[in-house]
Amino acid sequence: MYNYDYDLFVIGAGSGGVRAARMSASYGARVGIAEERYLGGTCVNVGCVPKKLLVYASHVSEEIHNAKGFGWDIDHISYDWSKLIKNKNTEIQRLNGIYKNLLENTGVDIINGRATIIDAHTVEIGTMKYSAEKILIATGGWPSVPDIPGKKYIISSNEAFFLESLPKKIIIVGGGYIAVEFAGIFNGLGVETTLIHRGSLFLRGFDQDLRSMLAEEMQKKEIKIIFNVNVKKIDKTDKQLVAYFEDGTQLEADQIMYATGRKPMTENLGLENVGIEINKKNAIKINDDYQTNIPSIYAIGDVTDRINLTPVALAEGMALAKRFFANEKKIVNYSDIPTCVFSQPSLGTVGLTEEQARKKYVDIDIYKSRFTPMKYSLSDNNEKTMMKMIVEKKTNRVIGVHMIGPDAGEIIQGIGIAMKAGASKQDFDSTIGIHPTAAEEFVSMREPTI
Ligand code: FAD
Ligand code: NDP
Repeated sequence: MYNYDYDLFVIGAGSGGVRAARMSASYGARVGIAEERYLGGTCVNVGCVPKKLLVYASHVSEEIHNAKGFGWDIDHISYDWSKLIKNKNTEIQRLNGIYKNLLENTGVDIINGRATIIDAHTVEIGTMKYSAEKILIATGGWPSVPDIPGKKYIISSNEAFFLESLPKKIIIVGGGYIAVEFAGIFNGLGVETTLIHRGSLFLRGFDQDLRSMLAEEMQKKEIKIIFNVNVKKIDKTDKQLVAYFEDGTQLEADQIMYATGRKPMTENLGLENVGIEINKKNAIKINDDYQTNIPSIYAIGDVTDRINLTPVALAEGMALAKRFFANEKKIVNYSDIPTCVFSQPSLGTVGLTEEQARKKYVDIDIYKSRFTPMKYSLSDNNEKTMMKMIVEKKTNRVIGVHMIGPDAGEIIQGIGIAMKAGASKQDFDSTIGIHPTAAEEFVSMREPTI
């Protein structure tokens, strides 16, 4: 029997690491956690939380505009970015404190600093070494930016959260969650926003109808979107940044933000000291038990680059703690994970897209509804909502639900539960709606469109 300092040593106090550490300690394990940057990780500091606050902030401009139709006098409006960032930072500091208390109150030792794995049971932080029966890598990810000339001039989402002032003009490069979310944020705050994407449509992997409709809606809000374009280089003049494109055109802006994906945080972690295997994208390879090729070392969350969402990292951390210290073989169910892109309008989705459903099933019915939400009926806001449901004909089971419109995330979360419970179209049909809501459309769509 070895005498380790800890039963579990977690590297990275983000969504997955904190959950695993806290739960393990609550089952009586001796747990240490290392964090080099900020408690709460990406989600709390430079991800979900500040992003959602900025989405709320920027959407206020549209709410104010809509307010006119409800009789409000909206002259004399002013806006202060630095106040927003200051308030956001205060809120994040409060959350950092909550994370610290959560960990300390369950008896987890927090060690500030960068951890390196020395051997299968030892981690080094600064001049200190800590031994543990099990090591958990939960180091998350980091923005990945292609190597182009002028890369030094660009910002990523990390910096976007701390800009000292709002640019007048911004170019956002990328076509994933972060690019479309930030395009909405900056546009809502009055920044002249251009989104540049290398493909013919953004949000690859989402339902085609929703992707095209989001592009339309974003353009209606005066976001300029340029598809099928690659940036060749970026240069700086006296006053501005200039993006030069491969098609010979160019565009000027005060800021250029890249949101071209994230890479797993595996550098300088000491993986080579123990021979932990990684894949082509530098993600740590794990088996179904989150175990690396070194039996005492595990990995969860974004560093494994599977489904890079906070609730997934949380579920994995929880499952691992239960397996290690509560003798429960909890399995994370990765099917039908609901997700929301907090674009403006937002896009919520769960289950198969129409394209995936057509490949998988012989016969499907599609139900679709497109309408103007009631909340916009007294304004000149011509934003449309779309709801789409995909049903397998043979079993009548609902296999995909998608929505674009206000509060899509809030609505799709509930639908996700129904789908987990295996709800059929009949179950949706026999559910009484809540009137008047947009969500009631999901229980009122009677005739398939195709
Ligand atoms: P992280 O939360 O990234 O935590 C890893 C931690 O490890 C970090 O704190 C890091 O500093 C630390 N660390 C790394 N290396 C070391 C080391 N060697 N030693 C010590 N510490 C180390 N997901 C959603 O579900 N909803 C959203 O709305 C959403 N919005 C997002 C918006 C943005 C802009 C971004 C970037 C991400 C967003 N995500 C969202 C994704 C979400 O943030 C991640 O999936 C989640 O944070 C992953 O958790 P994790 O525990 O794997 O890693
Ligand atoms: P994504 O992986 O979602 O999207 C990356 C985008 O960048 C894609 O459109 C991709 O294009 C494009 N791209 C990749 N490489 C290049 C390149 N070299 N040149 C030009 N374009 C390129 O990454 P994000 O950074 O947007 O977000 C990272 C992850 O964080 C998300 O996948 C998600 O898991 C999570 N997240 C979740 C959020 C939420 O839940 N609301 C919000 C924000 C992030 P192509 O499609 O052609 O490959």
